[in-house]
Amino acid sequence: MTTSPPTDRCRLATVWLAGCSGCHMSFLDLDEWLFELAALADVVYSPVANDRKDFPEQVDVCLVEGAVANTDNLELALKLRARSRCVVSFGDCAVTGNVPALRNLWQERQEGGSRAAVLQRGYLELADATGMLPKAPGIVPELLERVLPLHEVIAVDVWLPGCPPSATRIREAIAPLLQGDGSPSVVQDRAEPIPPQPPRFG
Ligand code: SF4
Repeated sequence: MTTSPPTDRCRLATVWLAGCSGCHMSFLDLDEWLFELAALADVVYSPVANDRKDFPEQVDVCLVEGAVANTDNLELALKLRARSRCVVSFGDCAVTGNVPALRNLWQERQEGGSRAAVLQRGYLELADATGMLPKAPGIVPELLERVLPLHEVIAVDVWLPGCPPSATRIREAIAPLLQGDGSPSVVQDRAEPIPPQPPRFG
C-alpha cells in the first residue's frame, strides 16, 4: 500500500475492467447519498465522474468492477494496486470472473486457450464475408488466454460480491472506509478470498 496523501479527505477511485458497467450503475443508484460521499471524498478517477486517463497516485479507496480479460485490464490492475491503499473487488465479475469468464469454458477447445477459441468463433466462423482477426498492437488490447478474477492478479482488501451489489450494500461497505482511515480492516467483507464459483446472475 502507498502512503497517506497530505489531506484528510479520502481520495476515491472507481475502475471499470471487463464488466458490463452494471456495478457502476448500481454505484450511481446511491442517489442522494452521493452528496454525502462528495462531502467525504474526492473522486479522483472514475468512468462515471471524470475523464481522467491516467490512474492517479495516492488513492485511498479504489472500487474495481470487472474481471481481468486483456492486457489493458492487466496493466491497469497492476497500476491501481501500486497506487491504492485499499482495493475493493467490486461485484461478481471482479470477485469470481462471472460473465466475462464464460469464455474460459472454451479453454480446452483448441490450442491457444479460450482466447483463440473465442476470436475464431466471433471473427472467423460467424463473419458475414471476409472474416479477419483484429490485430492492432498498441490500439486493440490482446485478450489474455483466460479471464481472471481480480484477486488472481493483485492483492484485494475487501470483497463486495453481487451482480451487481445493491446500492445499499455499496454504501454499507464503503462508508466506513471513506469516514475512517481507509484501512481495509475497517470493513472486511470477507477475510479470505472466496474460492472460484460458477457464474451467478441477478
Ligand atoms: S458483476 Fe454483474 S453487474 Fe457487475 S459488471 Fe459483472 S455482469 Fe455487470
